[in-house]
Amino acid sequence: MRNSPAVAPEKKIQQSQTTKIVIAEGDGIGPEIMKAVLRILKAAKANIETESIEIGEQVYLSGNSAGIDEKAWEAISKNSVILKAPITTPQGKGYKSLNVTLRKSLGLFANVRPVSALHPYVKTHFPNMDIVVIRENEEDLYAGIEHKQTDDVVQCLKLITRPGCEKIVRYAFEYAKAYNRKKVTCMVKDNIMKLTDGLFHTVFKEIAAEYPEIESNSQIIDIGSAKLATVPEEYDVIVTSNLYGDIISDIVAETAGSVGMAGSANIGGKVAMFEAIHGSAPDIAGLKIANPSGLLNAAILMLAHIGQTEVADTIKNAWLTTLEDGIHTADIFQGNISKKKVGTEAFADAVIERL
Ligand code: NAD
Repeated sequence: MRNSPAVAPEKKIQQSQTTKIVIAEGDGIGPEIMKAVLRILKAAKANIETESIEIGEQVYLSGNSAGIDEKAWEAISKNSVILKAPITTPQGKGYKSLNVTLRKSLGLFANVRPVSALHPYVKTHFPNMDIVVIRENEEDLYAGIEHKQTDDVVQCLKLITRPGCEKIVRYAFEYAKAYNRKKVTCMVKDNIMKLTDGLFHTVFKEIAAEYPEIESNSQIIDIGSAKLATVPEEYDVIVTSNLYGDIISDIVAETAGSVGMAGSANIGGKVAMFEAIHGSAPDIAGLKIANPSGLLNAAILMLAHIGQTEVADTIKNAWLTTLEDGIHTADIFQGNISKKKVGTEAFADAVIERL
């Protein structure tokens, strides 16, 4: 049985009282998986109080191009912990990505995405993979600086700053130190983007030198991605910029079993937001078959963050036992290892029975 995945090396909130959590149920499969996760948190007696906000598709479609209104911002600003289900960003028409807005406005600079194989209970070719992707969360091509030069020429600026690189790289080494991880790998493309990715790499080398006890290396992101698909067991902590981190964490999660399994912590100075790494999965929305594990793992990270480690461990163990008992949602169901194919609610029931 594994322990709860580590959340973050920053100071944890020490709390014996109830913690207020802002809940955003999102859209697509969001409401289905959020309902399942909140039922599990309640059954496990997590000491939390919730306040729901509406953000995402409905808010966009009501004419708000940011996907979030004043009331929701107010709730967020009064609290410091958010549990968020995925949201759909409508295509085109000037809609701004709310995920990017939240991460930037709240200063959520570190996106921590732990993924480990659950062999032999969940099919993977890599039984020993255990990787934490630490993704810079505010800069890079996701800074949202896009221009139309002519109808046929458009531009997106890649913004990389020394303070941004220093914050995320130091975070990655502090994370490795706090959780006894042995190696930090930097992935960038500085053979081509010599200034932007070059700065990230330079800062990585400078900060790595301050942590001689932790092994460090750097790879060009293309070969790094290829190696992640073939020898993921050679990696430990990976630190990278925003876009690359977004892509490789999906590769890593899918390689370990399913993109539906991984949770993430978005860590800032004051606020932390926890969410699954996957999107709103419109192709299966409403079918009640989505795997709630990604959001559940995000909630487990959240409980660790607010100091409720015992509840976090209890839920994690019940979740692992459910998987070990072969009770699987469709995305991870395999005839030879799974025992029962269940939908979102039945999966949550099975976890609750094992608390
Ligand atoms: P997606 O992650 O939603 O889905 C990719 C594939 O994985 C689909 O086949 C889907 O069915 C499957 N999948 C994802 N989560 C699953 C789960 N929990 N259980 C079972 N299967 C699961 O990616 P997409 O289709 O490219 O994006 C859909 C929407 O989500 C887009 O609007 C995108 O902008 C948005 N999105 C939101 C977030 C977020 O809110 N943090 C993140 C990524 C994408």
